[in-house]
Amino acid sequence: MPTIKILSENVANKIAAGEVVERPASVVKELIENSIDAGSDEIVITVKSGGKGLIQVIDNGCGMNSDDAVLCFERHATSKISSWEDLQRVRSFGFRGEALASISSVSDVELKTKTTIEEVGTIVRMHAGNISEVTKEASLQGTTMTVKNLFYNVPARRNFLKTNNTEFRHITSVIKKFAMAYPAVEFTLFHEDEKIFQLRKADLPARLEKVIGKDIMSYTLTLDVEQFGTHVKGYLSKPSFSYKTKGEQYLFLNGRPIVNRTVNFAVFSAYGHSIPKGDKPFFVLFLESKPEDFDVNVHPAKAEVKFKDEQLLYRTMFHAVRDSMSTDSMIPSLTRPPVNESDPEKTNLSLDLHTQKESLRMPLGSGMQSSGQGSDSGTQSEDDVARFFETPEEEKRAIQTQLTQPKQAVNLSSLVWQLHNRYIISQIKSGLAIIDQHVAHERILYERALDAFEKNPIFSQQLLFPQTLEFSAEDFSILEEFLPLVERLGFVIKKFGKRTVVVEAVPADVRLGNEQKILTEMINEYKINSYNDLDPRDNLAKSFSCKSAIKSGDPLTVDEMNSLIDQLFACKFPYVCPHGRPIIIQLSLEELDKRFMRI
Ligand code: ADP
Ligand code: MG
Repeated sequence: MPTIKILSENVANKIAAGEVVERPASVVKELIENSIDAGSDEIVITVKSGGKGLIQVIDNGCGMNSDDAVLCFERHATSKISSWEDLQRVRSFGFRGEALASISSVSDVELKTKTTIEEVGTIVRMHAGNISEVTKEASLQGTTMTVKNLFYNVPARRNFLKTNNTEFRHITSVIKKFAMAYPAVEFTLFHEDEKIFQLRKADLPARLEKVIGKDIMSYTLTLDVEQFGTHVKGYLSKPSFSYKTKGEQYLFLNGRPIVNRTVNFAVFSAYGHSIPKGDKPFFVLFLESKPEDFDVNVHPAKAEVKFKDEQLLYRTMFHAVRDSMSTDSMIPSLTRPPVNESDPEKTNLSLDLHTQKESLRMPLGSGMQSSGQGSDSGTQSEDDVARFFETPEEEKRAIQTQLTQPKQAVNLSSLVWQLHNRYIISQIKSGLAIIDQHVAHERILYERALDAFEKNPIFSQQLLFPQTLEFSAEDFSILEEFLPLVERLGFVIKKFGKRTVVVEAVPADVRLGNEQKILTEMINEYKINSYNDLDPRDNLAKSFSCKSAIKSGDPLTVDEMNSLIDQLFACKFPYVCPHGRPIIIQLSLEELDKRFMRI
């Protein structure tokens, strides 16, 4: 029979470390959290070999006195809460008092710290979870945590780590999030002795421009809403500018980076069909909520947060996003100056940067206190920092092809041509716009149909010769069921016998002769939706618009083309069709010039 033993503190810490410290990036996260909790406004992070060799975080926060410096490695040692009630109101990152205990049980840690009150600083060295040395030394106010040989005693973990590059990328993505949430804190990062970036203190928009990139930020909508006790502010991509892949979604709750499915789902739903299928909107959202309204104590790493009322959260987020989308014109401003690669100034700048980087190699002595904190000779250009955090090129290209033109620019011109009875080509201010006539009309009719179901029925045009249509018994009964909706679209339909109807009038904008097709398609759609218990209106509007729209191959007059363009830009979402295909493609003069090798 096995007998029960209480695990030693060391073993318990090592087990707990498995939850808190998964990889070097988790150490970086815990250390930065402690630095921010300590009120620091300058944080220098130094990493070697993707964090496997060394992780060092230097801050200028409140520091610890010599007693606390020894105590902080104990499990459940925290200065942030002392009672259960405190936990309900906690605003700091930490409160569990286990990060340092966990980290020090799986690595060699050196702590150097000094408060304003004490004359000299304290140095504590830890090995295998035990204090190996405590000394005193003159130091600056603040704390330096140096972590070496991570997972030296947990080979399974160590072997599981990815390449240095991958681990380093995890680290930068952690820093990126803190940099976004704390623009008033300066962050500097060194890797393999090279200064990677230095983000100066800034306000939120300026910080985001550096971290996310100016061009992406220029295609965002601002959001600032207070609802149901939650304040939501931040930036969202305009619907014409979404991402093919996921990952560029940042959510913060009271300054803490979190993931929350309800919020993601609410945001995606609010975009609805305004972005192509499979695309993900970009967002950076900051939620401020009362600590009583959520629980961060769900997981040791605290990345997941449980809200007391997730439904309320959904509603708040959905409406916040919808409102900001409807108040915005939805038209991307094309403010970005073209990046001219042969621009002599640019070339010089990047050369400068290169030499600066070379001269910024930072010596890391055996004492491991870095000299990085004070040295800031290398002011990196904004472009450089943004490029470092940048979205991969191929994703960008996908976005750029979706960029469209300001409405005014389209209206400026009456120069339109029809290409192969399929595309409308129009000269616009910055170059050329190509519009797919079928999907453009589809978008117009779709929005009109939705509006008709809700508010304003579509006008009818009387048919000179009413049409008799015959349906199967099942289809006929379905048609009967949603006849009121069909009538709002502008159809006037009279039942005639058990399977026959007479169409007396059709929607004003529909080309004649398609009635049977339109109605059959709508019956099918209604069947599927009622079977799945869904509100059929959106899908009815889709099939109506798809079947009623002008076709690819239909010749159009100049007036018809101009009217189509006008109506398109009167739409809420003129850039993508209800099924997610792009409606407009633009070719800029710059691009043409480039292809003709003018620049
Ligand atoms: P927690 O953050 O949950 O309190 P930690 O193990 O991360 O637990 O840290 C334990 C304690 O050590 C903290 O509560 C804090 O008092 C102190 N501490 C850790 N890092 C720093 C730092 N950079 N500056 C000042 N105090 C710190
Ligand atoms: Mg902590």
